[in-house]
Amino acid sequence: MRLLVVEDEDSIAIPLSDGLRREGFEVERVATGTEALAAPEPDLVLLDLRLPDMDGYEVARQMRVRGRVPIIMVTARGEEVDRVVGLEIGADDYVVKPFGLRELIARINAVMRRVGDGVGDVDAPDEFAAGPLVMSMRTRRVTMGGEELHLTPREFDILAMLMQDPGAVVSRDDLLRRLWGTTWAVQTKAIDVHVSSLRRKLGGAEWVETVRGVGFRLGVPPA
Ligand code: CA
Repeated sequence: MRLLVVEDEDSIAIPLSDGLRREGFEVERVATGTEALAAPEPDLVLLDLRLPDMDGYEVARQMRVRGRVPIIMVTARGEEVDRVVGLEIGADDYVVKPFGLRELIARINAVMRRVGDGVGDVDAPDEFAAGPLVMSMRTRRVTMGGEELHLTPREFDILAMLMQDPGAVVSRDDLLRRLWGTTWAVQTKAIDVHVSSLRRKLGGAEWVETVRGVGFRLGVPPA
């Protein structure tokens, strides 16, 4: 598995990269946002928020425009983490410096398991449909009556959870656990932001029914 470590401080980056290599990861280390964006896409990015040339959030945003590479944000103790911005960008998790190598590897494995959910599973069905709405897990494409909808990674993941079990109520806790990991659990409001944007793109609020006090359910509007 290839990791991209984006960290300007040698005193952190060098032992971290060495430790990860000893654990069997392939590691490329860069020290700036510009280099991070120029690097070949890895399997996962460890992204320091304070970089000399640009903000870590901006690096994440630009990576997200290009694809769905998993990102773990790295922040210094006491540094304010903007969880809402992190969620909007689609960061998968974050760790606070100083962190242990064991803890980090556990987070990396958890993120990779989550990201892998339903995507590469051989026996998981690839396509889900509800009326005119069709989604393909393999290509991550969603169409409504044949027209492609442009969903963000989070909107796609929320819709996937709803469509994989039509009629079932998906709780907010399930969404947070599956899509963001428990680390982000304090920010349940962020779910509402993604759900309302998803409803807008689907062309009607009735596609995603709110089950008061619990969560959400896929609704199929009458044709
Ligand atoms: Ca830094």
